[in-house]
Amino acid sequence: MGRVTPAPETTRFAPSPTGFLHLGHAFAALTAWRRARMSGGSFLLRIENIDVTRCRPEFEAAILEDMAWLGLDWDRPVRHQAAHFPDYEGVLAVLRGRGLLYPCFCTRSEIEAATTAPPGPDGPVYPGTCAHLPQDIAATRMAAGSPHAWRLRMALAAAEAGPLTYEEEGVGSVLCDPGAFGDVVLARKDTPASYHLCVTHDDALQGVTLVTRGEELRASTDIHRLVQALMGWPAPRYAHHGLLTDQWGEKLSKRAGSLSLRALRADGVTPAEAFARAGVAV
Ligand code: GLU
Repeated sequence: MGRVTPAPETTRFAPSPTGFLHLGHAFAALTAWRRARMSGGSFLLRIENIDVTRCRPEFEAAILEDMAWLGLDWDRPVRHQAAHFPDYEGVLAVLRGRGLLYPCFCTRSEIEAATTAPPGPDGPVYPGTCAHLPQDIAATRMAAGSPHAWRLRMALAAAEAGPLTYEEEGVGSVLCDPGAFGDVVLARKDTPASYHLCVTHDDALQGVTLVTRGEELRASTDIHRLVQALMGWPAPRYAHHGLLTDQWGEKLSKRAGSLSLRALRADGVTPAEAFARAGVAV
């Protein structure tokens, strides 16, 4: 029997520049890079920097430097999400036009106080306060400059999309349950987009065929699949991988100040040793 050649995959590494990369990122980046390179496809680097308050240019510069140090090259120019807010607004306008979004003026504490349902996969399930706000009142508040997010009318969206599944590598077809999230935010109060909106838009725009990413984002895939269905975008396949933990079993994170790649580098660690510590043979 001849060897089966994998179809060329377009994969991506999509970090948010909110801190320095650690070994978990090296693992994630290598996973995506390998799948592209092994199949003769393309590997993309995308900077997910819509959170203008937390993302910093120095962290982005560090990402490029760390990638070069790891020896992971990418194809096509780097996409910076913050340079594409008009693209995301275009998507919001389409969904708004179909009556699938509504403005939400609630503060975090108002939501907490009004929430009775158990939390969803992404935190509190929105109690729906603003879903029933008369349109003229919402319009007046927006015209007065009242800060607002844009939420998806989940029941309507889910009904429009019908039952949804996605393909998880090694598992097969996974049934989605986007309803568990409630009326998710597609454009935040503090930035005119959201992770769910931008990531699905960009994966479609860039022709990503295989999304490799950490296990912690698995639940979000249900929302991503819904946005893809609503917008008529193709669905990539997914391969969610486990997260690296430290010697205490805690997952590595920028927030917890896990040892950064640059700290390892300064300590004289080589890229091959870094990958070995991340549990991958190179
Ligand atoms: N930007 C996300 C993060 O840094 C990853 C997005 C994704 O891979 O879907 O956690």
